[in-house]
Amino acid sequence: MSKFDRLERHKRHILLKEIGGPGLARLAKAEVTLIGAGALGGPCALYLAAAGVGKITIYDDDVVDLSNLQRQIQFSEQEIGLPKADTLARRLEQQNSDILIAFQACRFKSHMRLEGDIVIDATDTFAARYEINEAAARDGKLLVSGAATGWQGQVGVFTPGQPDAGPCYRCLVPELPTQADDCSTLGVVGAVTGMVGARMALETIRLLTNAGPSPIGWFWSLDGLSGASRRMRIHPDPECPICN
Ligand SMILES: [Zn+2]
Repeated sequence: MSKFDRLERHKRHILLKEIGGPGLARLAKAEVTLIGAGALGGPCALYLAAAGVGKITIYDDDVVDLSNLQRQIQFSEQEIGLPKADTLARRLEQQNSDILIAFQACRFKSHMRLEGDIVIDATDTFAARYEINEAAARDGKLLVSGAATGWQGQVGVFTPGQPDAGPCYRCLVPELPTQADDCSTLGVVGAVTGMVGARMALETIRLLTNAGPSPIGWFWSLDGLSGASRRMRIHPDPECPICN
């Protein structure tokens, strides 16, 4: 893509004084790892690709199912039965041919090395979030984590293993919940998952461009049924086994 086309494409971001040309250059140099190509990961990845994030690596071991289409708007009926990681990768390549997309059609495991500047946790179990938090602490990555069930959505921004900089996911959730409900048993509103995905993309873009006050250590929650949202500060837990 020519420099002129690139400027034309990203004009609406360049016009923002908090992003501008320097922000666009930072986004183009950035590398993020996205774990989970489902209801949260799909919209998040589409916004990051559209924003020109230089490299996106996707992990997911699942295949597209008919029951996903109610919320996983990155997939079509023709893609039922196909692996989510490479199907999303192809969708992102169509969205923006100017960036690099890599994918691993497997579940992320904590021994795997995290690449890039930021890891985005778009998984749907507490066990997976614990593993990703641990890996992010080991590899020194910033962590943007999202969740949605029913009408509720949440997004938090963490610095695992760096308590001087902010909390980790484990500081927020110190004990692994024993009986965790997930959206397959509780149901979830598709538009709420979209808002969580978009919010994760927004926080990632703000981290990468230094736009606005730092989102690190902030936790945002949305009640889609009443329309209310709130934000709260999370502090590093002095007892946290990951941060200490
Ligand atoms: Zn911690």
